[in-house]
Amino acid sequence: MGTQVPARGLQMIGTAVDVCRSIFVAHRPASLLPHSKVLWHSGFNRRLVVAAIRRKAVDVVTVILVDPDGDPLPAWLPGAHLELSLPSGRRRQYSLCGDPRDRSAYRIAVRLMPHGKGGSIEIHESLRSGDTLRAHGPRHTFPFIDAPEYLFVAGGMGITPILPMAQAAGRRGTLVYTGRSRDAMPFLDRVPDAVVRPDDEFGTPNMEEILARANPGAAVYVCGPSLMQQAAARALPRVNPGCTLHLERFPATRATPDPDAVASRPSH
Ligand SMILES: Cc1cc2nc3c(=O)[nH]c(=O)nc-3n(C[C@H](O)[C@H](O)[C@H](O)COP(=O)(O)OP(=O)(O)OC[C@H]3O[C@@H](n4cnc5c(N)ncnc54)[C@H](O)[C@@H]3O)c2cc1C
Repeated sequence: MGTQVPARGLQMIGTAVDVCRSIFVAHRPASLLPHSKVLWHSGFNRRLVVAAIRRKAVDVVTVILVDPDGDPLPAWLPGAHLELSLPSGRRRQYSLCGDPRDRSAYRIAVRLMPHGKGGSIEIHESLRSGDTLRAHGPRHTFPFIDAPEYLFVAGGMGITPILPMAQAAGRRGTLVYTGRSRDAMPFLDRVPDAVVRPDDEFGTPNMEEILARANPGAAVYVCGPSLMQQAAARALPRVNPGCTLHLERFPATRATPDPDAVASRPSH
């Protein structure tokens, strides 16, 4: 009984927060309410226009998104991502890979996944400059903590959230960037000091060797394929127990409901 009272209290607070969120943030009438504007314009849910689409590697494009009225976009921190509602209604998440100080545009990079469920194919084959997308975020599920030193390990498209982190860390950070081959690794031009390790030149990366580069107390950030993340989680306590491990997973997560979504559109 003693534990039920706080649990019920927490439940009631949670319900109240959900109700407030739904009134002040999630629905269109929110824009008519006096306190809603700040939240509505805080980047939680807004329309963005595709300003440009550029090829960055053999199967990677960057998409530059701006405010329809040219207003500055909400601030974000390294590691943040957007959830985009594509014109088909599909929801996909993409890490912000530009410079957080540039409030004029959001930049994302998308790898073509020919055997995926169509989100990346839609972006590569159908999205055009001038198209409008609804964006949720920026969301900060991969927070960039303050640490004396950093070791960043990026595998393939895992470079996207790591890029702004490595740039913010400056001389406190070391970046190890792995991938299939150089032509499939975007942004090599933006990481001149990285240890670049394409598989076709060096073979499959050895995670223990990579993690041994970190000094005790360093924050180790890993973003890449699941196998790379599992290898890092196994190896770090053995090789470098004084470090903290921070992982970002790219598998698609459950999307949030979109108040403007058209019911007949695909929801995967
Ligand atoms: C927080 C977060 C950030 C993301 N950031 C990016 C990003 O910056 N760039 C990007 O291209 N994708 C990113 N993704 C993945 C993206 O949301 C889509 O899943 C991807 O574009 C494929 O969509 P799809 O519909 O073609 O296939 P889906 O059905 O979504 O995915 C197909 C399969 O491929 C896996 N997968 C998805 N993306 C990748 C990838 N990049 N590398 C290896 N396996 C993958 C999925 O886990 C799934 O098993 C991110 C995902 C999350 C959750």
